[in-house]
Amino acid sequence: MPLHIPTPLFESRALSAAAGRSVWLKLEAMQPPGSFKIRGIGLACEQYQRRGATRFISSSGGNAGIAVAYAGRMLGVPVVVVVPETTTERAKALIRAEGAELIVHGAAWHEANALAQSMVTPTDAFLHPFDDALLWQGHASMIDEVAQAGFKPDAVLLSVGGGGLLSGAVEGLQRNGWGDVPVLAVETAGADSFAQSLRAGARIELAGIASIATSLGARQVCERAFALSAQHPILSEVVTDQAAVAACRRFIGDHRIVVEPACGAALAPVYAKAAQLEPFDKVLVIVCGGVTATVEQLEQWSKQLA
Ligand SMILES: *Cc1c(COP(=O)(O)O)cnc(C)c1O
Repeated sequence: MPLHIPTPLFESRALSAAAGRSVWLKLEAMQPPGSFKIRGIGLACEQYQRRGATRFISSSGGNAGIAVAYAGRMLGVPVVVVVPETTTERAKALIRAEGAELIVHGAAWHEANALAQSMVTPTDAFLHPFDDALLWQGHASMIDEVAQAGFKPDAVLLSVGGGGLLSGAVEGLQRNGWGDVPVLAVETAGADSFAQSLRAGARIELAGIASIATSLGARQVCERAFALSAQHPILSEVVTDQAAVAACRRFIGDHRIVVEPACGAALAPVYAKAAQLEPFDKVLVIVCGGVTATVEQLEQWSKQLA
């Protein structure tokens, strides 16, 4: 049995009304560790265990680290997650609650990551948060479920951080014979490494991240995500933090589900009836989830950004 669960897929009355077209939701927020990440990380952890790994190491203080900790607990494999001092108490508590060993090290992620990398022995597996072919293969299963349900969307909306979700969704579309279904890749301003790369025609690296959507905060997207822009119809959209947070709040009212701004980013073009959705009658939104923001935090951001 895989470590992820099949998630609900349904047409949202409220979001369809907002967007003026049929909007379907793939509720990855319902995954046990709270985000789509368990699809790819679960598959990768199972593979690494089969290849002999006796410990999993991660340096993500976000949903990837939580997914690795969850996978390790389910597979009976010890997990070490090294996070920087900037990681929220909530994220640390969630990682510990999965029984993982948590090491807090360094002022920024690259320092935590360097320590994590230095700990990796030949019997350990290092789990990258987005740049691993096994992750993309696992993420693709969400599109398999949509195809199995018999629903073919005209376009897929999803958010982009390091591009693992994008790479996996495109793999899923292609392996289901849906190479013609475009993807609308959404980022927040200040974390828009994919949009800027498309514009530059080269994989650029941001000097820093200036968005509250920390789960989208990869300074550079993986090579795979950038290469796919030449192999698959991919449109790009950048929304403000304010729009992402507003979308999260509206989504609570519409569906009683709390997601991070990283996920609100993908909902924002729907609520804003974005021009880029114009050509599509039926759109599928990957509600990627995320557990590191609370309702109180969303309210606080909303006031700050107003
Ligand atoms: C990781 C994550 C993303 C971005 O995924 P990438 O594979 O890094 O592009 C978006 N939303 C949430 C909630 C995430 O955890």
